[in-house]
Formats: sequence, C-alpha cells, structure tokens
Amino acid sequence: SKVRIYTLARDLGVDNNKMLEILDGLGVSYKSVSSTIEEDTVELIKQILEEEAAAGTAAPADSAPVQASAPQAAPTQPETQAASAPQPQAAATATAEREPVAASAPAAPSAPELPHRAPVVTIMGHVDHGKTSLLDYIRKTKVAAKEAGGITQHVGAFEARTSKGKVVFIDTPGHEAFTTIRARGANVADIAIIVIAADDSLMPQTREAIAHAQAAKVPMIVAINKIDLPQADPERVKTDLTQLNLVPEEYGGDLIVVPVSARTGEGVEDLLEYISLTAELEDLRADPKGEFSGVIIESRVDRQAGVLATVMVQEGTLRVGDFLVVGENYGKIKAMTDSNGGRIKEAGPSTPVQVLGFSEAPASGEKVFSAKNEHAARELIAQRVSDRRDAEAARTQRRRTLEEMMGPIGETRTVNLILRADTQGSLEAIQGILAKKETEDVKLNVLLSGIGSPTEGDVLLASTADATILCFSVTASGGVKKVADTKGIEIKTFRIIYELIDEVDRLIKGNLEPVF
Ligand code: GDP
Repeated sequence: SKVRIYTLARDLGVDNNKMLEILDGLGVSYKSVSSTIEEDTVELIKQILEEEAAAGTAAPADSAPVQASAPQAAPTQPETQAASAPQPQAAATATAEREPVAASAPAAPSAPELPHRAPVVTIMGHVDHGKTSLLDYIRKTKVAAKEAGGITQHVGAFEARTSKGKVVFIDTPGHEAFTTIRARGANVADIAIIVIAADDSLMPQTREAIAHAQAAKVPMIVAINKIDLPQADPERVKTDLTQLNLVPEEYGGDLIVVPVSARTGEGVEDLLEYISLTAELEDLRADPKGEFSGVIIESRVDRQAGVLATVMVQEGTLRVGDFLVVGENYGKIKAMTDSNGGRIKEAGPSTPVQVLGFSEAPASGEKVFSAKNEHAARELIAQRVSDRRDAEAARTQRRRTLEEMMGPIGETRTVNLILRADTQGSLEAIQGILAKKETEDVKLNVLLSGIGSPTEGDVLLASTADATILCFSVTASGGVKKVADTKGIEIKTFRIIYELIDEVDRLIKGNLEPVF
C-alpha cells in the first residue's frame, strides 16, 4: 500500500530532506513530504538506506560514514559506495579533505552549517474564525505550567513544547501585527497559519491574510477550524481555496490543510506536526554564537517596572547586562524574563524575551542590535543619525533614474495593485478586464482584492510590496489616508470602471515607456 513520505522518514529514522534527496535520486516525483509513494519505492529506499548504513560501518571508525562525505557516492548508487568501502585508506583521505563534513551525522551532509532553530509561527485569519481560541488551546496544552503560581503576562509570543521540539507562536493574532512588523523591514514569522472556520469558509480577512503571507513569501498552512460543529463543511473550504489557486494536497496541490477544533483539540497535534515538518523543510538555522540581532515584538510601559519590551532573538545570544540599540535609542538590559514569566540570564535564537532596560518604548517591528558597552552604543547611534540625515538629503536631491522608473531593462515588469470595490460584482468585472491587460512585458499582480474601504493593513501591504491602491465606489477613511500619506502610498478612487481601467493603463505605460 501507499505511504506518506514523512511517515516513512519517521519510521526509518531519517530526516525528511534526506528522504526527498533519495527520491530525487531515484527520479520519483512528489509534491511535498506529505505526498504518498508506492510500496516498490519504499522497498528501494529501505535497500538504499541499508546499503548506506553498511558502507558507513565499513569505513574507519574515526571517519564519517562514506556517503556523507563523498558527493560522488550519491544515495542512488550504492555500488559506488560498496566499492569505496573496502579501501579505508581512500575513504579516510576523502574524509580528511572535507574536514567539517566529517563531524556530521550520516543524514546531514551540511555539518559546517549553523544549528537549527525553532520556527516562529503567526496565526492569521478572519475575525471570529478561532485564532485566539487556537492559540489558547495550544498555550494551555503545550506550555509548561508556570512555577510559583504567578499570572503569566501576555508578552506577544510564547514557546510551545511539542513532540518535535519547540515552536514559537506570535500571540497577537491577525495580520496587522504581522504587517506592522514587516512594514519596518523585519520578518519575524517563518510560517503563517491561516485559520478558516469550517462553517464560514473564506471571508474578506481570510483573503487579506493569505495576501499578506504571500507577499511576505512565508509558507502557509491552512487550519480549518470548528470541525466539531454539525454545520462544519471542510470540503467547501478546500474547494473555495482552490478557486484562489491554493490547491490542497489531497486535490493534487501542495497546500497543507489541517482540520482542527480549537474547542475539542481535535487535529491540533497534527497541526503542530505539520508546523515542524514545514520548519524542517525550510531548514531554519541561526548562530547562537554570532552577533546578536533581533526584532521588537511589542512593548509597553509598566507603572512600576518601566518599559517592558519583548524582543525576538533572531541571531546570537542576548544576555543580561548587554547594551541594546533600537533605532536611535539604547538601553542596558537590567533583567530578562522568558515568555513563561521565568527569570533568565541569556536567550538564544528563536526565543522571545521580555527585557527591562529601555528608557523609551520601542515600536514593534524595530530591529534590535547589541553593542559592547555604552560608548559603542552611543557611537552606533551617532552613526545612524548621520546616515539618516545623509539619506534624507540625498532623497530630496536625487533625480529618479530611468532604471528606477522602468525597472531593470529587458525584464518583465510587474505592476502591483490592491483593489477595493463596493460589491463582489464590480470587483469581478474589474478583475475580468484586468486579466486581459497583461502583456509579455508587464505583469499585473493583484495582491489583494476586497470588498469595502481600504484599510490600514492594505496601506502597509502596499508599502511593503510597492503597490498602488485602486478603489471603485469606496473611499478611504481619514485615518487610512493619513497613513497612506506618511508612507507615500497612492490611494485612487473611481466611480466609473473604465476610469479605473484607464488608470491601470497609465500604470502599465508608466512602467513601459521611458519618461524623459
Ligand atoms: P478570533 O476572532 O479569530 O480570535 O476568534 P475567537 O478565538 O475569538 O473565536 C470566536 C468564537 O468562535 C468564540 O465564540 C469561540 O468560542 C468560537 N470557537 C473558536 N474555535 C472554535 C471551535 O473549534 N469550535 C467551536 N464550536 N467554536 C469555536
């Protein structure tokens, strides 16, 4: 019978990437690690692994298994390995030449690389589809109960312990947090979970969440929630997703879709497993010994304690006493707590920590760096202030170059759009016309199309993806306009479809014709 790739990998005790390598070697096609493979293939894989293992034990004890260090001995050519095994001298030499590789485990040909880090996951989706409930369920079941009976403070992220290792969740659900962080140029999330209620299917904010994840190129996993409800219709959700060109695996695509219930907990274990699986394929790594860098998740001012900022460590290790620089401010870490409220002295990659020591609350999404001492921190800030002034001066002086206006010569150019309209009907009409506008040279990329007025989230998406917002029969509120102004994003409103289309034509031409 057929077996899923990741199940086989788990049963045979090799990692998923290794399994995919073997399949590639065999010329077996697959969509993802949850694709199934034939029994014959399974037998072949077992043989290959056995032969590799045999070749490994035949090699000198102090050298790495032959197959890990000798690239020409591909997993698909067990004969080659068998041939090299009886020549311990040659094998040893080959190993010595690739010194860093020799330290690796048989299944990881990438020993000199950095250690793995835990994935950081964000949960997005439509209001009331169960984002908060899902986070609560995971927190309740996967976070070690806090010692000493204190109330765990909400710090913007928490660490869940799963059978596959640590998974870090950003616990401000919704794409606003995600996009605010990204709008500052930082990327915190490695994986986006899109929650869709099984009784409601795709809703406007679901599409927005998907657009945001796609714009950030963050891999998505869909959690179909509320499957405990009698009116739940997960199949409809899958069909609706297909309409967005997101094809679930069971329909032959590569989108992982997991049915869950945040109420009963059904499927949550599977969801966590898929997160770990995706993380493994993403091959997330960071250097705990490297230079520190991180991102502010959120911050607040506590009446007694002062400024409390949650920092996500991305590289290096943060220690109490370190000087941190955020924007043009700095602070010395007086104390640190983990997301569980426990005092800690140091924190490595993929760890959210709450630090005490800033004098001003830093904004979420700001990048954090460290400095050796106060003097170095001040110097770094002085440098930044002068860089900023230079950049400002340059911006006012600079004339736009041809290439800036046209994009690189000879490449297909893309016009990014966000569409907002009053009804589904007008949206579809507009999209229908736009679909015919694409040419070989210019691609129209509608990042998001939605019903109703443009939101602040749209503006942030537009600013990170360099898009124009076009509205039909809806207008932006004053607040949204203000944000758009400060970010330099254009929001244009039209009452007649063909005027909107004319504008798109202008954008296309603007991208095509050199302007002198
Ligand atoms: P959010 O707005 O996406 O964060 O949604 P919430 O987590 O606040 O959930 C909205 C409502 O749906 C609440 O009344 C929840 O109790 C309910 N809910 C969430 N998940 C489930 C579920 O799996 N099954 C059922 N039956 N109700 C759920």
